[in-house]
Amino acid sequence: MLYGLEDYVYDEFGLKSKKKLNIKKVLLIILVILACAFFAVMVYHIGFSKKEDTETKVYAVDSNGEEYIYEEVQINEETFDNYSEEIESNKDINKESKENKSLSLFSKNSEKDSLKSYEGNHFQIPSHNLESLKSKFVPQFNENGYNEVRDIYFSDEKQVYLTFDDGPSKDVTPQILDILKEHDVKATFFVLGARVDLYPETLKRAFDEGHYIANHGYSHKYSKIYENKDTVFQEYIECENSIRNALNNQDYNSYLFRFPGGSSGGAYEKVKAEAREHFRGYGVAFTNWNCLTGDAEGKETKEECIQEMLDTKEGRTSIVLLMHDSNEKQQTVEALPEIIQHFKDEGYTFKTFYEIF
Ligand SMILES: [Zn+2]
Repeated sequence: MLYGLEDYVYDEFGLKSKKKLNIKKVLLIILVILACAFFAVMVYHIGFSKKEDTETKVYAVDSNGEEYIYEEVQINEETFDNYSEEIESNKDINKESKENKSLSLFSKNSEKDSLKSYEGNHFQIPSHNLESLKSKFVPQFNENGYNEVRDIYFSDEKQVYLTFDDGPSKDVTPQILDILKEHDVKATFFVLGARVDLYPETLKRAFDEGHYIANHGYSHKYSKIYENKDTVFQEYIECENSIRNALNNQDYNSYLFRFPGGSSGGAYEKVKAEAREHFRGYGVAFTNWNCLTGDAEGKETKEECIQEMLDTKEGRTSIVLLMHDSNEKQQTVEALPEIIQHFKDEGYTFKTFYEIF
């Protein structure tokens, strides 16, 4: 084993007696090995340490249900950081989870299998390409969104989500937007597709002013919506398309649905239960409310609305407050400033679902 590294030692008769390691040769070899190792490390750092570009194929589904490559995007550390910077200021999530979040819905490399691709003629265009990452205020897919929305109701945080259903409307929604602006508070609008088609400018204004645009279906006709789970989802898609057209942004996805009449109970409970699972499979969350002004249940004055809000609030810390911005809800316009002031005085933080998506 040590051939070449040993010297023989000769005795006084000139005979080989014992072997002795040649220290110089051993040191030289160790030195050569170290030099090679150093060289290898340097080569690795210079040549290979730069993260390779990740080629991500974005898949979509055509009307025959066939999957096709919608686009191929190159993402490397550098380009991602550029987009991340903008988002960073808005959302405090680490880069790794952002990367997963933004691509997982349609990327072959990810957990796509756990989520279904959109079918039919509507969701052919994936929402999470790099263009949509550039925009600060476009909801981003969150694989934990479903649970995080549910968990709002179990939070100990003093927070309030102001939510308005059934708009936009001609007169009431603009007044509500004025009040929210004046008080520097953001809210969430669960809009109806049919109303969005009538007042796209108002929806655009709500979006541009930083409010979260969520989905309340298209028609609000229970018998039509709750025929079966597919018709519920079809309402979601139709409303989503109205939002996309109004915002002139075909990549928009709200990821959040509010079932007309609530997500459970009533005559349509069976369909609703199936629809809840169906939505979940598509990465779409839903939410109800745990506090309301009663503006859709006969509370016709500002005072009644405020009292109903206080009664239903019942010392809760985490509030999802249901109100309506359809055209006959002038009492909501009148009650809103005091409602906002009440939550401000009590030290609540005003939140929207951009916290989650
Ligand atoms: Zn409604």
